[in-house]
Amino acid sequence: MLDTWSVKKTNTNGNGKSLAARRGDESAVVWVREVPIGGSEAVVIAGPCSVESRDQVTRTAHAVKDLGAVILRGGAYKPRTSPYDFQGLGIEGLRLLREAGDAADMPIVTEVMSEDDVTIVAEYADMLQVGARNMQNFALLKKLARTRTPILLKRGPSATVKEWLSAAEYLLHGGNENVVLCERGIKTFDNSLRNTLDLAAVALVKEMTHLPVIVDPSHATGKRSIIARCARAAIAIGADGVIVEVHPEPEKALSDSAQQLTFEDFGELMHELHQPMRSLVRAHALAV
Ligand code: PEP
Ligand code: MN
Repeated sequence: MLDTWSVKKTNTNGNGKSLAARRGDESAVVWVREVPIGGSEAVVIAGPCSVESRDQVTRTAHAVKDLGAVILRGGAYKPRTSPYDFQGLGIEGLRLLREAGDAADMPIVTEVMSEDDVTIVAEYADMLQVGARNMQNFALLKKLARTRTPILLKRGPSATVKEWLSAAEYLLHGGNENVVLCERGIKTFDNSLRNTLDLAAVALVKEMTHLPVIVDPSHATGKRSIIARCARAAIAIGADGVIVEVHPEPEKALSDSAQQLTFEDFGELMHELHQPMRSLVRAHALAV
């Protein structure tokens, strides 16, 4: 599978290899302002699902920064299943997110949903998120490829690994090398959780490409109580970081209420990420 993908006939970079394909041991580090993603240390990105108000996003920014997050997230343009659900604050949301990021001295990442919005969103944000539903919006990818702003490329809910990497290829081929991949859960037969977190794909993609890969356990599970453990598993399998949703009062959130962490929950997640792995029963210590 690895080889089939890396020798795609259609690619145009001249040596028969996709631009995203790993060559030897070299891994890319994508800098979001002063924050390296893909280096020796994993990163934690945190913030609300949606920017709702100045108070909400600024309080969250300070709280997550104090607990160890290095990039602030928050949606201003929201991809919602129903047109009757909260659609985001748009430009006002961008302004508030920027203000909160500056106040807490953090770079910001936010979703850009349409090619028409790329210029305005890039004026405010340090990293542009391509949401899962837009992973194969090729017009959007082509436009983003012409910026040099780092891109967070989420895996589509029904996208194969090959399709995900081909979407990354659009960005690289178009001239933007600053691509970070994000596994955020896929649709499977099992509906016990919001999605199925495909951690094996993270290990696989780390072998296949030099690009950094992070995990979003919030959208992958939709379930607050297991997000910290999934984040820990993501780092254990080799992810370069995690992105999680945090809200001052999740029960009042205008989107994704069930998966947003309180500040206290987020503190516990950070604590868990610092814990060593469980040790193994040692065979020689067992009584026979
Ligand atoms: C988000 O991160 O705000 C989001 C909508 O995620 P996804 O595109 O993965 O559903
Ligand atoms: Mn969300």
